[in-house]
Amino acid sequence: MRRDIKNEILQTLYPDDIKCMVCGDEIRPNRYGLCNKCTLDLNDNYCVRCGRHKVGIGDYCGECSKSVMYIDEARSSVVYDDTAKNIVRRLKFGEALYLARPISEYLLDTLIATDWEFDCFTFVPMHKKAKRKRGYNQAELIAENLAERTTTPCLPLLEKIKETSNQARLTRDGRLINVMGAFEHKVRPPFHVVIVDDVMTTGATLNECAKVLKKAGATVVYGLTFASVPTRPFTDKPTVNIRDFKK
Ligand SMILES: [Zn+2]
Ligand SMILES: [Zn+2]
Repeated sequence: MRRDIKNEILQTLYPDDIKCMVCGDEIRPNRYGLCNKCTLDLNDNYCVRCGRHKVGIGDYCGECSKSVMYIDEARSSVVYDDTAKNIVRRLKFGEALYLARPISEYLLDTLIATDWEFDCFTFVPMHKKAKRKRGYNQAELIAENLAERTTTPCLPLLEKIKETSNQARLTRDGRLINVMGAFEHKVRPPFHVVIVDDVMTTGATLNECAKVLKKAGATVVYGLTFASVPTRPFTDKPTVNIRDFKK
């Protein structure tokens, strides 16, 4: 189906210029599709490396100063608060596919504020069983919307070869182990890639994807997510080495 016809049908089914996409109130929402009550908290104090919301001053968050990152730089549009959670949950589990469009508008604004140069967008893939169950991959929908709004293609560069546990239920180190070896590249990536996802928690998933893309030939990999979980402030406590878990 032609994209403009598809959009027109979606617009008729889900008129986001009449109803607020969060509370459903029939008032004219802003250009993101939200009413005045339901505004999202923009991520305006972020770590210049991982892009997650941080507290306090300084360029980097407490976690980035200690861990290996394959992602060169990441940015995230909003703070993962209750409103953002509600939107993401509905996109992921409530079949509210039309939410991918307002989300990609936020991402576009975030992207415009960067100095990134890139050849394509890609997305964090789902395992084929999980995708069959849900029927779609929300990260792919967001990335496709972004590609449509820019002149940059969205390429399916990665596949998920390992079924993983739900990252949300795991600790920071558990998340790292859970996604290890979970992804594989499908085709040789272009040199500069932007990986798109809905939420960034510890960054373990994006980082693992970036590792695979770099091994396959990408030289610069950026991460772009709609919402990010704030990072923990600086502490002097030693972090656990990943090798300790492999024993
Ligand atoms: Zn609202
Ligand atoms: Zn950081």
